[in-house]
Amino acid sequence: MAFDSRDTGAFKGVWVFCEQREGKLMSTDFELISEGRKLADDLGVELCGVLLGHNVEGLAKELGGYGADKVYVCDHELLETYTTDGYAKVICDLVEEKKPEIFLIGATNIGRDLGPRCAARLHTGLTADCTHLDVDVTKYKEFLKTTSTIDVDNTVFEENTNLKMTRPAFGGHLMATIICPRFRPQMSTVRPGVMKKAPFDQAKADAVVVEKPAVALTKEDIHVEVLEVKKAAKKLVDLIGADVVVSVGRGISKDVEKGIALAEELAEVLGGVVGASRAVVDAGWISADHQVGQTGKTVHPKIYVALGISGAIQHKAGMQDSECIIAVNKNETAPIFEVASYGITGDLFKVTPMLIESIKALKA
Ligand code: FAD
Repeated sequence: MAFDSRDTGAFKGVWVFCEQREGKLMSTDFELISEGRKLADDLGVELCGVLLGHNVEGLAKELGGYGADKVYVCDHELLETYTTDGYAKVICDLVEEKKPEIFLIGATNIGRDLGPRCAARLHTGLTADCTHLDVDVTKYKEFLKTTSTIDVDNTVFEENTNLKMTRPAFGGHLMATIICPRFRPQMSTVRPGVMKKAPFDQAKADAVVVEKPAVALTKEDIHVEVLEVKKAAKKLVDLIGADVVVSVGRGISKDVEKGIALAEELAEVLGGVVGASRAVVDAGWISADHQVGQTGKTVHPKIYVALGISGAIQHKAGMQDSECIIAVNKNETAPIFEVASYGITGDLFKVTPMLIESIKALKA
């Protein structure tokens, strides 16, 4: 029967697009597989990873270890390097054949390119940059109770298993929950670092089912040719994987060089990396890969230090789930103190050297 995205009852299962680059899976894959596992359990359905590439079958086990029941491995030499045409065709063919109900994609550069293309071709909706996903109404209500001012107990909620896709809207000033009730699959992109990775389970890795669908792809399907892949010359900072992030804000403006040097030294003694607010990135004081927040990276390290950062809602969106937040700000009413575990009111140029010395003394 022809594929019809409006035939909602014909769709079943949760899928995650698992991105690999040069035969290496991305951390977003594990985060989305872990999140997809919860959704699949709530729905009582299978969780499948979708892996495209050439000679990448060996990666399937790792995805199983984070919760995938099955991995569709689409292997073809034309899939060795990412192209929008090639990947979109293979994925859409597979979706049309297997009909998943939910399809999650990491909001990486590739995912942001691929997701909308597939959604348009499949005639369905896509919610970009989600920060929270639910299918279960009770769990969704619990989420609202802790994150919104809605009187949940006195509000009528429709009982259904539509995917409730929550994302920041209006510049991060409110959270919008979006549903796609009339079309399938329900598609969503999720930013790297937002969902938490489950612990790896070797038994699950060994039990994963690998299915290799036939791939119908020719050179004519692909309208671009990748001649060369050039990697960024500079090594980018790994904010998402860091246990400690020391971020600087516009508060360093009095002496930018010194401010960044102090953050680097504090990060070094704590074994962490340097992050920044958007104000610092926009001013050109540090490169964009350091940015934390709604339009930067979402981090949840063990320790997050905010030096001279006011705590705008868009910054907090990227760091408020950190285990321990230490804020240094000369303004005692700065909103960053609302989410801080420890707040120090003072000049960062005086406080940071004291912090560095104290930590060094503790380590000695
Ligand atoms: P400011 O708000 O100017 O705060 C500087 C702070 O430093 C002040 O609190 C001040 O009291 C303190 N200070 C000054 N001197 C000292 C000193 N010597 N010692 C100690 N404290 C001092 N922002 C992000 O960070 N990340 C994002 O991803 C992001 N995305 C955005 C997306 C949208 C759509 C929009 C509209 C905005 C976004 N922003 C983002 C911008 C955000 O709204 C704020 O403008 C930004 O976070 C402010 O950065 P800041 O805290 O460094 O600067």
